[in-house]
Amino acid sequence: MTGAAATPMPAAAGPVVPETFGADRRIQFRCRKGIACWNACCSNIDITLTPYDILRLKDRLGVSSGEFLRNFAVPFEMEKDGMAGVKLKPVEGATACRFMTPEGCAVYEDRPTACRYYPVALLSMRKQGESTERDSYALVKEPHCLGHLEPRPITVGEYRREQGLEAYDELARGWRQLVLKKKSAGPTLGKPSKASLQLFFMACYDIDRFRVFVASEAFGSLYDIPEGEMSQVLADDTGLMLFAFRFLRQALFGEVTIRVHPAAAHERIERARARAAGREREAAERRAAQQDDVYEGLGEE
Ligand code: SF4
Ligand code: SF4
Repeated sequence: MTGAAATPMPAAAGPVVPETFGADRRIQFRCRKGIACWNACCSNIDITLTPYDILRLKDRLGVSSGEFLRNFAVPFEMEKDGMAGVKLKPVEGATACRFMTPEGCAVYEDRPTACRYYPVALLSMRKQGESTERDSYALVKEPHCLGHLEPRPITVGEYRREQGLEAYDELARGWRQLVLKKKSAGPTLGKPSKASLQLFFMACYDIDRFRVFVASEAFGSLYDIPEGEMSQVLADDTGLMLFAFRFLRQALFGEVTIRVHPAAAHERIERARARAAGREREAAERRAAQQDDVYEGLGEE
């Protein structure tokens, strides 16, 4: 990856050499236009997008987040009972990236994180009981990629800087933490409810819909956010995305950092209790009706 404007960035998560290392590890790699494998990496993609990747790409394409999700992305489950993820959709009926051109990547300046990292893989891990995650790296060596034969030594840290990854990773940190938090909680949290999955999806990936949600009367009646702070939050997509991560920590994991109006919170809890009691009552009535059917049936025999 030379940083030349036309250099394509591959993204397929290929076989990872099972050795992890830190940012000071020296690797040998260069991607350059004219190399015999030019575009090979972008012909078979499997690219998970971060929320910030989506912001950059939707702006680049001049579409709303909803349009981007409908036309350029595919949702997937990141792991069993885990959070929802989004992948870049390849060309219709094939595996190539739709941004691949003979000259290289058509969205190079806004290419996703995975494309920037290749052939390095970022492995964020969080051990049970630990509050922060640890980053380590691995090298992806795929036979078709000849960039490993180019005589250019570079440390992973230098490579990350060259690819603009420091800013990208910083802006995706809150999202990674949420995913890892769910993962490290394991079965104790169980399968997320449909409502919490939908909330996570909207807040992380559909920023235009999340903006409407945050600006809504219902949101304002529950969360006590000073007016100045609220206009700052709504001012730009990146600030709103960072707020979304904070909001999700509170909504999904109970880490309270946003003040709620006590009366509204109390009312919501009461409403939730009433709904649960209603469901319980209906279930009891259904059970009783079934019992009646059984006894009536016995009487007819
Ligand atoms: S976004 Fe660009 S770099 Fe990434 S796979 Fe597509 S063409 Fe290649
Ligand atoms: S296969 Fe490797 S060297 Fe070839 S274009 Fe892709 S990243 Fe560059």
